[in-house]
Amino acid sequence: MGAILAAVVVGILGAGLYLLSVRSRKQYRCPACGERLSVEHMEAKRCNLCGAPLEKTEGD
Ligand SMILES: [Zn+2]
Repeated sequence: MGAILAAVVVGILGAGLYLLSVRSRKQYRCPACGERLSVEHMEAKRCNLCGAPLEKTEGD
């Protein structure tokens, strides 16, 4: 019984942390080729495909 409760609590905490990390994810779009990137903790400066400077966007 205690193990089930612990598993439920861990699951809820995990889901909460996942949602927080998704919401803090930064969205970028390449103005040159249209490639979209989402970056979690570091700033993306340049497109992986064409190397153009990225524009920051707000979600979709
Ligand atoms: Zn690009």
